[in-house]
Amino acid sequence: MNEMKRGFILILTAPSGAGKGVLSNHLIQSFRDIHFSISTTTRAIRPGEKLGVHYFFVGREEFESMIAAQAFVEWAEVFGNFYGTQRQTLLESLEKGWDVILDIDWQGARQIRTQMRDDVVHIAIVPPSPEELYRRLVARGQDSMEVIEKRMALAERELSHWHEADYVVVNDRLEAACADVEAIVRAERLKRLRMAKKIEPLVARFSNLFDGHHLA
Ligand code: 5GP
Repeated sequence: MNEMKRGFILILTAPSGAGKGVLSNHLIQSFRDIHFSISTTTRAIRPGEKLGVHYFFVGREEFESMIAAQAFVEWAEVFGNFYGTQRQTLLESLEKGWDVILDIDWQGARQIRTQMRDDVVHIAIVPPSPEELYRRLVARGQDSMEVIEKRMALAERELSHWHEADYVVVNDRLEAACADVEAIVRAERLKRLRMAKKIEPLVARFSNLFDGHHLA
């Protein structure tokens, strides 16, 4: 339990190729006490992925019983697989005073916001133009042309939810976008609600001054 502050949930949503990965890695490197949430999924493990590092991999039946047991604070079906965020792990991290980055889609973002409004900070990352997003997806060299076309179509759907976010960062120049997300984290950490644990004892010390205590 961190006596000083309560952490928040940072949700970054973005179409594929908009720079979400780079921006969240930048935050992890720039701040102490900010961590990635590890989701649970039914999708097959990919080469290079590690159990319990990238995801907790479970079977469909196990995932369904976890839903029934209300183990998830949010879950969704994405590309035919189930993905979810475990409630207990998330709450424990917040209690420790960590800020937690969630890489979830807009459906999950909506569910968490409904349940934990005061704990959620949602940033929509937006590419500067469709042409630039297309150029980046091609330059990344990761997908076939067919997959790129599909990602472009999905981008339109993801971007249509931009107004559900608290902040919008247009990732035109990466350096400026990094500075923007950093500024958001700094400001959110100073919100009155999150500072209460630190400030209340401090203010109490001031009132003690008038109860016969002396500074010297
Ligand atoms: P991938 O299979 O490529 O790792 O992830 C596919 C999609 O699932 C991404 O858009 C990612 O944001 C989303 N996703 C990953 N984990 C979760 C989760 O716990 N909940 C929700 N709602 N979406 C997730």
